[in-house]
Amino acid sequence: ALFNLEGRTALVTGASSGIGHHIALTLAQAGARVVVAARRVDRLDTLVKEIELFGGHAYAVPLDVTSAASVSACFDAIEAQGLVADIIVSNAGVTVAKPALEQTEQDWDQVLDTNLKGCWLVNTEAARRLVKQKQPGSIINISSILGERVAGAVVGYSASKAGVIQFTKSLALEFARYGIRVNAVLPGYVVTDLNSDFLASEAGKKLESRIPFRRFCQMSDMDGPILLLASDAGKAMTGTSLAVDWGHL
Ligand code: NDP
Repeated sequence: ALFNLEGRTALVTGASSGIGHHIALTLAQAGARVVVAARRVDRLDTLVKEIELFGGHAYAVPLDVTSAASVSACFDAIEAQGLVADIIVSNAGVTVAKPALEQTEQDWDQVLDTNLKGCWLVNTEAARRLVKQKQPGSIINISSILGERVAGAVVGYSASKAGVIQFTKSLALEFARYGIRVNAVLPGYVVTDLNSDFLASEAGKKLESRIPFRRFCQMSDMDGPILLLASDAGKAMTGTSLAVDWGHL
């Protein structure tokens, strides 16, 4: 019962693939109604069907996190269903992997607009709606171990993820008065469809040597930490940065 999410409504951004898709399934299995949001709505529709197949409840909402108007429209769509999102998993993110001197202004803007500004827009709009309804809530920001540790070729990405960790602490401080908790999860390298070939390659093997447990994360490794932060089990946790990385150095 500690981890039960029945009666709760979760919004997962970037639910059309990878970690976000997996987290949406996990939250639905724990009993939450899940609003799945991203730009590729066809993929969201498939996910909704998958959730309904095991008796869960889900809605798909189009969302581009880089646009304040789109973020606001997403929350309007949730309200139109008579719901308020009281679990928010801000997961939408992009990576540009190139040496720093090859990164363009456009690369920088795309990464920072999505990962940092987009996350901030989702956090603040979510809080605005919760405050209006006088409801408590839990916001979970998917940062990365690269927000704390150093790796080559991801300068903008690292900066964006470090920014997420720090604004999570600021918002945790400001939103406490509304009963809204804000935490960050810092995944290590997580095997997804997009990176499984790379992680299995020689370059991937090298990365593995920096992980004391000598293994990459599976998406299911996120389940426990996400359910902890989303549910009453983590009710005293706010402003934390939870690394889920098998001890990555
Ligand atoms: P994917 O590329 O598989 O998923 C990214 C998701 O973000 C997609 O659903 C995409 O949907 C969505 N997205 C991208 N841009 C936007 C936008 N402008 N508006 C709304 N949604 C957007 O990546 P992962 O699952 O691997 O990554 C998910 C999160 O986890 C990211 O924040 C990433 O930085 C973080 N992370 C990943 C790690 C890994 O090793 N995989 C490690 C540490 C952190 P669509 O294109 O349909 O909009």
